[in-house]
Amino acid sequence: MPDLPRRILVVDDSQMIRMQIREDLEEGGYEVIEAKNGLEAIIHAASPSPPDLITLDIEMPKMNGFETCRRLRDARYARFIDGEDHRVPIIFITGNDTIEDRKKGFEMGAVDFIAKPFQKGEILSVANKILNPPLIFMGIHALVADDNIVARKIASLCLSREGIEVHEAEDGKQACEIMHKVGAKMDIVITDLVMPNMDGMQLCRHIRQDLGRKNIPIIVLTAMSDLSEILEVFKVGASDYLVKPFAKEELLARINVHIERNKVNRELRETIKLLKEANEKVEKMSILDPLTGCYNRGYLSKQIEMEIKRSIRYGKPLSIILSDIDHFKKVNDSFGHQAGDAVLIRFVETIKNVIRNGVDWIARFGGEEFLVVLPETTLPNAEIVAEKLRKTVSNGQFFCEDVQLCITSSFGVAGIDPVTQSTPPSFEQMLRIADNNLYHAKKEGRNKVISSLLCQI
Ligand code: GH3
Ligand code: MG
Ligand code: MG
Repeated sequence: MPDLPRRILVVDDSQMIRMQIREDLEEGGYEVIEAKNGLEAIIHAASPSPPDLITLDIEMPKMNGFETCRRLRDARYARFIDGEDHRVPIIFITGNDTIEDRKKGFEMGAVDFIAKPFQKGEILSVANKILNPPLIFMGIHALVADDNIVARKIASLCLSREGIEVHEAEDGKQACEIMHKVGAKMDIVITDLVMPNMDGMQLCRHIRQDLGRKNIPIIVLTAMSDLSEILEVFKVGASDYLVKPFAKEELLARINVHIERNKVNRELRETIKLLKEANEKVEKMSILDPLTGCYNRGYLSKQIEMEIKRSIRYGKPLSIILSDIDHFKKVNDSFGHQAGDAVLIRFVETIKNVIRNGVDWIARFGGEEFLVVLPETTLPNAEIVAEKLRKTVSNGQFFCEDVQLCITSSFGVAGIDPVTQSTPPSFEQMLRIADNNLYHAKKEGRNKVISSLLCQI
């Protein structure tokens, strides 16, 4: 179903002006409701389908625009037109644009002022920006801190027109409270320098030092153009400054630069993080066996040399257990290669559950052969571990679909005793002994553990 056109209530005592605004807005696809005085405006606004936006003439007989606005914002009527966290935006249209009127209007909750005579398309452009803010800054949060309501509203309007979510603060203290509340979501801060309670400098310092927000752009609005004072502003952490009164376009251009730069920086940081994670993953993958998730042979060759050296240097024993699943070929032949794979995965899980987590480790030596490395473990203790592994495997729950498989494994254990071994043996020497023991375990009927010290051979 297509969206219903947005409704705009145009309040003006001049029929000609109403017509002019209507033409402008209808061209932009809006539905226009007219009210020729404040009373009619209130009646329309409080109808079952309230408007999405109100344009309000200030100079009207009987009830002027300010009075109409005050009544519209009065709780009796506001409950019809405003939601819990949403107020229907009101634009004042005035033939007599003064600072006092703007101050009054903003205090009453107006979102903008348009001075008469206005250009064709001007009202439509303002309505579009309010009702359909452009998407480029959508989701960006900005804090605008200024005790001067007119200056604050001008800045905040500029930003909300670009789709930025604006948080307004009347002084530095309120700005701090908002910073705490909004937290990391805040993307940019625009602050006046001279404010009651806490000034712009203190606010900058608080954001940089206490909140640790080193990257958030802070633009300081200042009435002075004294170089030494501006330098002070930068010293406390401001990213940029604008001398008041500034042009809206200038503020926008600066914000654009800072937000873009921050966006690029953030994207860069995220990309670096992703790259790091990807690198870690690749690194991890390069040392792991893809099927069982235990270490692969490449890792084993490198790491075992270090374990051997460490054992000799610190005078600590080291043992290895070479294990080979018995008659594994039969599993493949009877139940298929996939069932064989599942057995290998379960076999590694079983071993990992027995050995010491974070100290001992297991690597796939090849096919259905695995090497368990036990640092700081004497040969008799390694034999006990191997025996435990043998029992756990033979009692283990290996299933192919619903059929329980009888899996056993043979184990050949070898160990270094640093008391009798002053120079580090090579891994090949250790392996030869473990392999020889494994061969005998197989020969003696499988499902068996055989062990011997390195120096004993
Ligand atoms: P033994 O008790 O003497 O060790 O007999 P075995 O059948 O276990 O030994 P053999 O060396 O004859 O067979 C090993 C089998 O392991 C053959 C090979 O196809 C299989 N194998 C090796 N790697 C894998 C694998 O990744 N997945 C599966 N499913 N099988 C594998
Ligand atoms: Mg084998
Ligand atoms: Mg085997």
